[in-house]
Amino acid sequence: GCGICVHKCPFNAITIVNLPEELEEGCVHRYGVNAFVLYRLPVVKEGMVVGILGPNGTGKTTAVKILAGQLLPNLCGDNDSWDNVIRAFRGNELQTYFERLKNKEIRPVVKPQYVDLIPKAVKGKVRDLLKRADEIGAFDEVVDELELRNVLDRNIDQLSGGEIQRVAIAAALLRNAHFYFFDEPSSYLDIRQRLKVARIIRKLADSGKAVLTVEHDLAVLDYLSDIVHVVYGKPGAYGIFSQPKGTRNGINEFLRGYLRDENVRFRPYEIRFTKSSDRQSQASEILVEYQRLVKDYGGFRLEAEPGTLYMGEVVSIVGPNGIGKTTFVKMLAGVEKPTEGEVDWELKVSYKPQYIKADYEETVYDLLSKIDASKLLSNFYKTELLNPLSIPDLYDKQVNELSGGELQRVAITAALIRDADLYLLDEPSAYLDVEQRLAVSRAIRHLMEKEGKTALVVEHDVLMIDYISDRIMVFEGEPGKYGKALPPTGMREGMNRFLASVGVTFRRDPDTGRPRANKEGSVKDREQKEMGEYYYVS
Ligand code: ADP
Ligand code: ADP
Ligand code: MG
Repeated sequence: GCGICVHKCPFNAITIVNLPEELEEGCVHRYGVNAFVLYRLPVVKEGMVVGILGPNGTGKTTAVKILAGQLLPNLCGDNDSWDNVIRAFRGNELQTYFERLKNKEIRPVVKPQYVDLIPKAVKGKVRDLLKRADEIGAFDEVVDELELRNVLDRNIDQLSGGEIQRVAIAAALLRNAHFYFFDEPSSYLDIRQRLKVARIIRKLADSGKAVLTVEHDLAVLDYLSDIVHVVYGKPGAYGIFSQPKGTRNGINEFLRGYLRDENVRFRPYEIRFTKSSDRQSQASEILVEYQRLVKDYGGFRLEAEPGTLYMGEVVSIVGPNGIGKTTFVKMLAGVEKPTEGEVDWELKVSYKPQYIKADYEETVYDLLSKIDASKLLSNFYKTELLNPLSIPDLYDKQVNELSGGELQRVAITAALIRDADLYLLDEPSAYLDVEQRLAVSRAIRHLMEKEGKTALVVEHDVLMIDYISDRIMVFEGEPGKYGKALPPTGMREGMNRFLASVGVTFRRDPDTGRPRANKEGSVKDREQKEMGEYYYVS
């Protein structure tokens, strides 16, 4: 029968009952009575990148703290020594690892998840920080690879999110360690930077190091990992590491919501990708034809070519950081006035900014019900948006006390329940875990299809872009200097143009239809580049 049985409750309340007895042996750490419990651990292998995917609150960081020797696991009892841990993992691949960890033969290095906290802890210039970190004499090489040359003389507290992320990754790479852990390396990075960082981390494993990484961008995780573990369970209550799986299969099982070896269904629906050209596109009626728009900030100039948006379509906006995507969206939202051209339409616009302010001293419920209380009661909105994003769990919380991910979910919800003709969402996946990204993607698609509304979404997560988009808008130029917004085009044409500039080709996975980045120089990569088909030749 079923090893672990799963109730098909409302989406956010999937509970696994009847934890099988054999799991008790895999009980690694319990924070306290009625506190979070972690079952099993991921493997650590020299020369390999082990990817971890799963929702937040399921023990990923806890597992890493244990493997880094920062947390002695209590083995769900009153364990007080690493010798007992070694005994508990006898016969397991981790036995030797823990023996070496106990003998201080393993030096771990961790790139933390919350890089925005780094400026509070570390002061001074980037150059000095990286010089101090450099134990392998690779300062220049790493600085150039991560494109940090022109920020070396800046203070840490003057960096953008993407710059701090790359400095943190560089600092980890420069250490001489055995075991490297990268917690969410792609946050704040654009698509080109994400794939570049993935390549650099891969190289580290190829040089014989053991690498573990948590990553919520599935295209990046796919590109990066040799094997993956899916973590499932109930966020905040317990988390279980699956057996190690091949990367392709592990991600596919995750998208299906069903782990075959474990015989566990952990999500009631499956995520499938369809080619946008295969979609029953209702997008035929024109919503708006916007004029040529220019914004000149003095130091930076954006020029947007005129374009057309259709009713019922989702258009993704792609391009590097600092190229003017937010500036463009702000002009459409009426937040910034164009230097040339006019946004002279009569459309109702709902806008979720990239940077969300949270200075509301009211509850989430009050905030949302002021926008449209009826949507909170609507079955359609409950099923498609509120429950999948676990919004009811947040109703009683104060908006100014929400975490980054909670605030993002509330802001997306606030934008989507507002009655409008055009929805502008600037980087909705930031701070969200992989499960929430899937939920947001589904919500955007279903809502726009059902209501015949239009959405423009700035996004760097390739799977999300592929899942939600009917068409795409490409931004080109030189970041920080000038940007050019091309008109919305078909996915194939737009992605082709964009990916050619990134230098990476994608194919489609035959089972799930998801995009997969080709390894650089592989047969497929070379073939597709020769044909000029950077995106999915089937
Ligand atoms: P993830 O990395 O998957 O987001 P974590 O390992 O950070 O998960 O946390 C898993 C759960 O353990 C969370 O519910 C968190 O609140 C809880 N937790 C983490 N640290 C402690 C602690 N020191 N004491 C009690 N609970 C903790
Ligand atoms: P993206 O969203 O593509 O990352 P942005 O539109 O946020 O890019 O920014 C594009 C450029 O415009 C950046 O160099 C940024 O520093 C600059 N910029 C943005 N807002 C302003 C402003 N209010 N005044 C001056 N420069 C700005
Ligand atoms: Mg932006």
